[in-house]
Amino acid sequence: MEEEISKYLKKLFPINRSITGHGNRETLKILSELIPLKIKEYPSGKKVFDWIIPDEWNIKDAWIKNSEGVKIVDYSKCNLHVLSYSMAVNQTMNYDELVNHLYYLENQPDAIPYRTTYYKKKWGFCLSYNDFKKYIKKDELYKVFINSSFNSNGSMTIGELVIKGKLKQEHLISTYFCHPSLANDNLSGVILTAFLSRELLKKNLNYSYRIIFIPETIGAIAYCAMNRSAMKKIDCGLVITTVGGKGKYAYKQSFRSDHYINKMIEKVFEDNKTDFITYPFDIHGSDERQYSSQGFKINVATICKDKYYEYPFYHTSFDNLNFVSAENIYKTLNLYIDLIEKMDKNLIYKNIKPNCEVMLSKYNLYPEIGGGILPTTECLSELDIILWLLYYCDGKKSLSEIADRLKINISSLYLVIKKIENKKIVKLMQ
Ligand code: ZN
Repeated sequence: MEEEISKYLKKLFPINRSITGHGNRETLKILSELIPLKIKEYPSGKKVFDWIIPDEWNIKDAWIKNSEGVKIVDYSKCNLHVLSYSMAVNQTMNYDELVNHLYYLENQPDAIPYRTTYYKKKWGFCLSYNDFKKYIKKDELYKVFINSSFNSNGSMTIGELVIKGKLKQEHLISTYFCHPSLANDNLSGVILTAFLSRELLKKNLNYSYRIIFIPETIGAIAYCAMNRSAMKKIDCGLVITTVGGKGKYAYKQSFRSDHYINKMIEKVFEDNKTDFITYPFDIHGSDERQYSSQGFKINVATICKDKYYEYPFYHTSFDNLNFVSAENIYKTLNLYIDLIEKMDKNLIYKNIKPNCEVMLSKYNLYPEIGGGILPTTECLSELDIILWLLYYCDGKKSLSEIADRLKINISSLYLVIKKIENKKIVKLMQ
């Protein structure tokens, strides 16, 4: 799978994405080679809660030429050179006029920063500080050209895949694909989500999974507005971002730190003997900002490898394919698969024979020779687990709660509950 991940990294990295535009459609079309994505268009100008879906933005070319006609900044070489959502411009100007439209990082002189101007009509170029010092001279005249367009009849493109499980109850998996050529933030997350979806499609799932590829912020807001009733029913989920860097693993907790999703992530790290950093919930961050809002209250957590904000290459041209590897994305993918396998087992059962003890021997669930069983607290036998399950399964407690109380792995508990479910002693709550 690593080779396939590597192929898609290379294929998708050069595409210029933004919150709207042809690059986004192209990206989703390529991802459709992996999974049956439903591609939806939300029209520009549509009001979504307190926001309006912006006009569709597209760009063909952009450059700055010096007075000798030499291109000193060229969009065709790197799409980060243009401020995303820049207005068109075709003008000759002096240093003083130009310099207000240039963005660079003095503390990272070789890096081109990534900057946007989605909600303010502006134009601008991003370049390395070293190039700025080398090419931008006070006594020079510059020809500045951006061939971009805004379309009020355009739309914002999103991708959706709902995988139906046995239960109608859904888990949310969300990733954002609005960044141009930046690898960790968030092409790594987009690719991981696509491969994760492909793996989930092969499984016999209990829960249903709502998997969405959206532009960050406005995409999540629009999705919540357009799918309000489905989103309001979701209890928890994942925002998948920055999963392929060279640094340490981390996870950002959902807003309720005692929610089972946080405990399960810690268990995944523990089971995989992986060190990690814990970031408590914070109102800054990615689309958990929308999902955690008062209207939706979805507990969303994130497993990262080099979390956004935390690595020096964040939002610069150094967040590229030298920084992110298919190997790291694959490793993180396995953690997410492990996590979802755990989440998917977190079911609620009800003992349908609640009056006194169930006669387990009738169902071949009791050792044939009585009198030889001594209760032990150190290691629970299958019989102990059956007895505890019958005691706890009241139609309200989840298997993760019961597993915590018994201090055993949810997977062991799941195997036993399946056995007694088959004997029709407990039933799954819908
Ligand atoms: Zn970002």
